[in-house]
Amino acid sequence: MKTFDYIVIGGGSGGIASANRAGMHGAKVLLIEGNELGGTCVNVGCVPKKVMWQASEMLEMIQRDAASYGIYAQVDNFNFTELVDKREKYIEFLHGAYQRGLDSNKVEVIKGYAQFVDNHTVEVAGEKFTAPNILIATGGQPSSLAIPGGEYAIDSNGFFELTEAPTHMIVLGAGYIAAEIAGVVHGLGTKVSWAFRKERPLRSFDHMLSDNLVEIYQEAGINTYANYVPAKIEKHGNEYTVTFENGETLTSDCILFAGGRTPNVAKLGLDKTDVTLNEAGFVQVDKFQNTTAQGIYAVGDVIGKIELTPVAIAAGRRLSERLFNGKTELYLDYNLVPTVVFTHPPIATIGLSEEEAIATYGDDVKVYRSRFTPMYFALNDYRQKCEMKLICLGKEEKIIGLHGIGIGVDEMLQGFAVAIKMGATKADFDDTVAIHPTGAEEFVTMR
Ligand code: FAD
Ligand code: NDP
Repeated sequence: MKTFDYIVIGGGSGGIASANRAGMHGAKVLLIEGNELGGTCVNVGCVPKKVMWQASEMLEMIQRDAASYGIYAQVDNFNFTELVDKREKYIEFLHGAYQRGLDSNKVEVIKGYAQFVDNHTVEVAGEKFTAPNILIATGGQPSSLAIPGGEYAIDSNGFFELTEAPTHMIVLGAGYIAAEIAGVVHGLGTKVSWAFRKERPLRSFDHMLSDNLVEIYQEAGINTYANYVPAKIEKHGNEYTVTFENGETLTSDCILFAGGRTPNVAKLGLDKTDVTLNEAGFVQVDKFQNTTAQGIYAVGDVIGKIELTPVAIAAGRRLSERLFNGKTELYLDYNLVPTVVFTHPPIATIGLSEEEAIATYGDDVKVYRSRFTPMYFALNDYRQKCEMKLICLGKEEKIIGLHGIGIGVDEMLQGFAVAIKMGATKADFDDTVAIHPTGAEEFVTMR
């Protein structure tokens, strides 16, 4: 049986980051990946999504905005198939880049699905490997739609398998993926009907964000349906009809369901270990990413805390620093994680929403807002708004939430997140000279 210092199960965002960092510190590391290196993010997540988002933004810019600058451009041929083909070639290139990174840190990589034999041993295709430290970084997969005919709906993996644009897509779901894909395919020329089962999408976000998003999507021609709970899907030839609990129906050639993700734990053989799952079925960990089994750790989507690539990476790296570089007290703080939803326009958010802040701190909360037309639209009859908000706490007005929707906010957030993580107050923001003319300056000039 081959012995290692560290076995990492899953070569996605968290697993690769942790394996590389352990290797950098001289640990003998084995990484086991059942599919392609890079995991969800690289293969069926952030990367292909961002490529599609950029293509969609570009088309919007040419078709909607260019003429306002006197640029009369016409799109003669948008080739969806070619876009997908080029996207997949880029992903192939990334596989090589990840492999080279792992090689440079002397991480041994084997392909196959790992199963636990006991707390310190895993098996891949009949071969056993042992280590005192094992990381579970197996991520998750799209949850399925548990209604009659639910199998007719594609999920985000199915979306990335499309080589031709659908004519009409019904999007079911209310989170990141539904919001993003609805905007992307609409921008690429597909008719979109977006049905969510409650009163608003992105319900856990500041309501200002979803209110603006729905308004902008509707104005752009996306049909939205609030309080539409899917009940069944039926296939008629090449078309699908969703019937909702309220009796209404929608018919199209493509239905996409995005209603959260399920952790990859079922086939891991966890019953052979002391690892416990939480009530929702995710691997239970403490703040140091320790599971309930000594020597087994978990990071990323499989713990179901914050399902974002940089979170998986940060947790994986910190764990390796703790295990292999003597930083025994290091752990990831899951508070104040900035995030962007790549809608059209994008949403950027960190910290508490106004609703959460008021529920927690009541009258101690002060909110500053700005709503304006970005200069990008200055010459356009179409004047899409940007809206921003700062949530401040107490007399010192410590910033506990920052939210924005509008062009460019995706690239604004990272720097503000540093300041907020350091404890910035409204006075610190006011004390920072603005950069003009930008949208970002609104964050330091709110009254
Ligand atoms: P994963 O990246 O899922 O990696 C897990 C790996 O483990 C997989 O490669 C899998 O094949 C492997 N595996 C599973 N079981 C086994 C086993 N038994 N043996 C061996 N290998 C196994 N996040 C962002 O921050 N920004 C974005 O823009 C963004 N966009 C997204 C868009 C979509 C459509 C989706 C679905 C997700 C997106 N995410 C985004 C989320 C991000 O992709 C995940 O949070 C991230 O990939 C989680 O990393 P992970 O290491 O936990 O798991
Ligand atoms: P989310 O958790 O973001 O949202 C799923 C939502 O869909 C639920 O909250 C629920 O909202 C709704 N839903 C659930 N079940 C049903 C159902 N049966 N019928 C109708 N609606 C349903 O999940 P996603 O799948 O969108 O994304 C998974 C995760 O991936 C995200 O949470 C995020 O962490 C990550 N991601 C990150 C991205 C980024 O960083 N830009 C992009 C894409 C994904 P409600 O209860 O309101 O109906």
